[in-house]
Amino acid sequence: MKIHEYQGKEILRKFGVSTPRGMPCFSVDEAVKAAETLGGNIWVVKAQIHAGGRGKGGGVKLAKSLDEVRAHANSILGMQLKTHQTGPAGQKVRRLLVEDGAAIQKEYYVAALTDRATQQVAMMASSEGGMDIEEVAHQTPEKIIKVFVDPLVGLTDAQAKQLADGIGVPAASQAQAIDTFKKLYTCYMETDASLAEINPLILENNGNIKALDAKFNFDANALYRQPEIVAYRDLDEEDADEIEASKFDLAYISLDGNIGCLVNGAGLAMATIDTIKLFGAEPANFLHVGGGATTEKVTEAFKIMLKNPKVKGILVNIFGGIMKCDTIATGVVAAAREVHLSVPLVVRMRGTNEDIGRQILKDSGLPIISASDMADAAQKIVAAVSGK
Ligand code: GDP
Ligand code: MN
Repeated sequence: MKIHEYQGKEILRKFGVSTPRGMPCFSVDEAVKAAETLGGNIWVVKAQIHAGGRGKGGGVKLAKSLDEVRAHANSILGMQLKTHQTGPAGQKVRRLLVEDGAAIQKEYYVAALTDRATQQVAMMASSEGGMDIEEVAHQTPEKIIKVFVDPLVGLTDAQAKQLADGIGVPAASQAQAIDTFKKLYTCYMETDASLAEINPLILENNGNIKALDAKFNFDANALYRQPEIVAYRDLDEEDADEIEASKFDLAYISLDGNIGCLVNGAGLAMATIDTIKLFGAEPANFLHVGGGATTEKVTEAFKIMLKNPKVKGILVNIFGGIMKCDTIATGVVAAAREVHLSVPLVVRMRGTNEDIGRQILKDSGLPIISASDMADAAQKIVAAVSGK
């Protein structure tokens, strides 16, 4: 689960990390009021969306007067902000953050994250923080340094110093940097984050260290014990179909192709996607109906897939273990009738009660194309959507 920058900064402050003062705003007037309340003579107006790269996309602007705050808030609020993380359609800006402007001497990068390769928690830092960190990672990876943390010990002073030295924090600001790294690590652990990133972490002209941005991802499997994090959820930022699917306990992810896939088992769903691609087509979604797929669930799954106008055919790929093929077949037939299915449907079913399942599909009188194995199923649906 992702959250907004202003929420991330609230969390950082709770853990004692220094950030600029700021206020979230939902209208232009609120933004001007926030700047007035904050006082001073320089502010930053920042688009709040669940994607990074806002600066380059025109979603972060400095203002040197209240008129400029108004002008920037006006242009950013409601804009369709496109960044390298939003996809080509961009993301509509519905919230702003208005903050005190900071005087930046140097931009660093620091993050705590789950490193899958080593199966450890890593703290990563770089002297080259700011908007080009992706390029740094690709072109000069040696400028990103990493330490791995023993969860029983936590981030040690020596490791935190190694990071501070490694990115060249000046001596006078080292204690603050070390303190910030340790707090970031604690924050990452205690919130069940999978990523806690500050980019940029800045050295101010006065020598202070401050978090100018905050990006968090949280482990969805731990949300049951993080009610304060769940309260930050912003459904406007999430895919509407994915939210609908989660209500029915369906694991659904939108993709760009035209073949809807309904599969039981996450691994089988991945394999199905690969097989469709192997035969030259693109899946419209990942959809895993779980172990207890009822008729109701299958019907909802069909409805969600068919809401997507790009879907030109559906492939159902089921391995009947605990879930019996006849149950799925009954669900598929009922769903196809209820939604008045008008696109080709290929079904491949193997496992418990597969013969009964196939008979149910046949007896339904619906134009369902039966397939014997995965390759056969993928070829048949690819042929059907390409009109061959
Ligand atoms: P992102 O592009 O989505 O990662 O948004 P950031 O919050 O990281 O902002 C992008 C860039 O805007 C930063 O790297 C800074 O260079 C700049 N920026 C953000 N806040 C301030 C500020 O208070 N003062 C100054 N001078 N620059 C800022
Ligand atoms: Mn940033």
